[in-house]
Amino acid sequence: MKVRVVGKRVKSLYTRSRIPGVKWTVNQYVGCSFACEYCYARFLTRWRGYENWGSWVEVKTNAPELARKHVKGSVVMSTVSDPYQPIEAELKLTRRVLRYMDKRNELSILTKSPLVTRDIDLFKLFRSIEVGLTINGFTGREKRLFEPLTPVHEARVSALKELHDAGLRTYVFVSPIVPGVTDVSEIVRTTRGLADYYFFEVLNLRAAGRDFRKLLMKEYPESYKILIDENEFEDFVLRLREEVRNLNIKTEGIETHHEGWKIVSP
Ligand code: SF4
Repeated sequence: MKVRVVGKRVKSLYTRSRIPGVKWTVNQYVGCSFACEYCYARFLTRWRGYENWGSWVEVKTNAPELARKHVKGSVVMSTVSDPYQPIEAELKLTRRVLRYMDKRNELSILTKSPLVTRDIDLFKLFRSIEVGLTINGFTGREKRLFEPLTPVHEARVSALKELHDAGLRTYVFVSPIVPGVTDVSEIVRTTRGLADYYFFEVLNLRAAGRDFRKLLMKEYPESYKILIDENEFEDFVLRLREEVRNLNIKTEGIETHHEGWKIVSP
């Protein structure tokens, strides 16, 4: 897919966050050419007057100089893009943001890309930092349908290992969990010992948008049914919690959604 790149100058880079436990978010890119079909940030396409999620990326050209600011509280990079999406290999915008960022800032990075390992030298300069890989184990048919353009599972696990071996604090974000598709135990088996903790998130059907709901209904009707039926969903979450408990790992919780509310349970 051809990606339209739009340069923008902005007034600030650190945005106050509404995510519990997170004070600031940083998005040097808005939009993401990994183009996941379920991406919760897809709604920005219409808001910003573009066509097709994944076909446009806004680049905050002055982000590196704005990154210098010292902020108190946790900073999450990124929430409406992937900081290591393909364009980053050439632009090195994330790398420049990290270079200039005040190293006292408490940074948490999340990506699906092994390109993240390129910046290990800069991560090591931060006083408090953690780097997360989103690992959902999608392969074959579901990978082609849900996120055909993202790095494959094995590449993400290798990147996690490299970060861990470099002595960095790492985490695995197991998301989105699709009932009947995602094998949580298998993901933990392939990443055991490489992450300081895990965080699980069950697919938020509402945030994934109408097109993805249709896709799921057509291609994975059983999964869809579990997600929309209150009783089946409750049973599924109970079983998932039990499965996670039996895995004996450190977890920050399981995130589920109900009526638009985010619920995080141990
Ligand atoms: S990698 Fe993340 S930000 Fe990019 S499209 Fe996929 S879910 Fe959205």
